[in-house]
Amino acid sequence: MADTLLSRFLRYVQIDTQSDERSNTCPSTENQWVLQRLLKSELETLGAANVRLTDAGYVIATIPGSRPKAPRLAFFAHVDTAPDFCGTNVKPVVHRNYQGGPIKFADNPRLVLDETVAPELLKARGKDIVTASGATLLGADDKAGVAVLMTLAELLLKGRRGKHGDIRLCFTPDEEIGRGVEKLDLRELDADVAYTLDGGAPGEICWETFSGDAALVEIEGVSTHPGEAGTKGMVSALHLAAKLLCALPREKCAPESTTGRQGFIHPTRVEGGVERAIIKFILRDFDLDGLEQKRVILKGLCRGLQAGTPGARVTCKIRKQYRNMAYWLKKDMRPVERAREAIRAMGLEPNDHPIRGGTDGSRLTENGLPTPNLFTGMHNIHGPLEWVAVQDMELAVKTCAKLAEIWAQKPRR
Ligand SMILES: [Zn+2]
Repeated sequence: MADTLLSRFLRYVQIDTQSDERSNTCPSTENQWVLQRLLKSELETLGAANVRLTDAGYVIATIPGSRPKAPRLAFFAHVDTAPDFCGTNVKPVVHRNYQGGPIKFADNPRLVLDETVAPELLKARGKDIVTASGATLLGADDKAGVAVLMTLAELLLKGRRGKHGDIRLCFTPDEEIGRGVEKLDLRELDADVAYTLDGGAPGEICWETFSGDAALVEIEGVSTHPGEAGTKGMVSALHLAAKLLCALPREKCAPESTTGRQGFIHPTRVEGGVERAIIKFILRDFDLDGLEQKRVILKGLCRGLQAGTPGARVTCKIRKQYRNMAYWLKKDMRPVERAREAIRAMGLEPNDHPIRGGTDGSRLTENGLPTPNLFTGMHNIHGPLEWVAVQDMELAVKTCAKLAEIWAQKPRR
């Protein structure tokens, strides 16, 4: 299995599928169609049923089971990669039978992947590791999940109908820009419980995420010739944007200074000039009170800026993005308990782990489809040090197969 899994993974990461939040289309980038069409045709070749590429760019397929009364399970992976770092011309490098020590990169000699930045490498000795070449991200987030699910499909479709119910596979676009399940019809998916394959180290299961909001601050200034700015009343929106950023209480709520269960206010983009500037933020916290505090801080700073600069116009619009899936999962922990059982059956220790981000599962769970997140083996994601071990992806395939069996042994919800 390891060889087909690896060749699949290498094939997928070489297709540039970065999403782009500035685009209004779905998927946000043309290249995601390329991978989706490939997945569709591979699923058809493997013999999956009801393979469909929807108008909005989702691939949905069924692995038929032999237990019609079993709850219907769905597995998700996202095909896009993060826009944070270059994802074009990914050149994957396979380090067979890794024996420890630093890994160097041909396309960036200054880069080093070692145990100081990736302590999980200590557990990767003897495994086959894949990295990028130093100039790009690898895209294991989430091509690892995609390769895991495609290999799961092959495994289950090749054997005689296994001891599982019908399994739905769903490959989503645009997860990295927060639109992963926006155009997904849950009635069409018709699943009782789901898992995203978008997590890290073997054994990891995430059923608690941040709650997230997005904020857009718009500053309108007054433009004049800079030579007459003093007499003609220039108000620089750009300068006010800088002032706002400097006023953020960074020691308490910047992503760089918070860990664990602390939330943050994170400016993600600044654009503009003298006349007009915008700043985009994301606000994150595990609980809604904490999130509300962050909204209050940001709005307060904007009001202060407005009060101190009557010539400008400062507005702050905040919109909901997603909510902590734990609110719903705590009411029925079976999806989590059964995942733990499957992980234990692989000889792994389940590692419940709140995720300092959101997942497609946050939205799905809120919309009535309980969806914890499972490990795929990816590490150091969204940057040039990203890596994954083939054997860890293989463990994820086996965990999913086991999980399907476990659900088939239990009554429908
Ligand atoms: Zn991901």
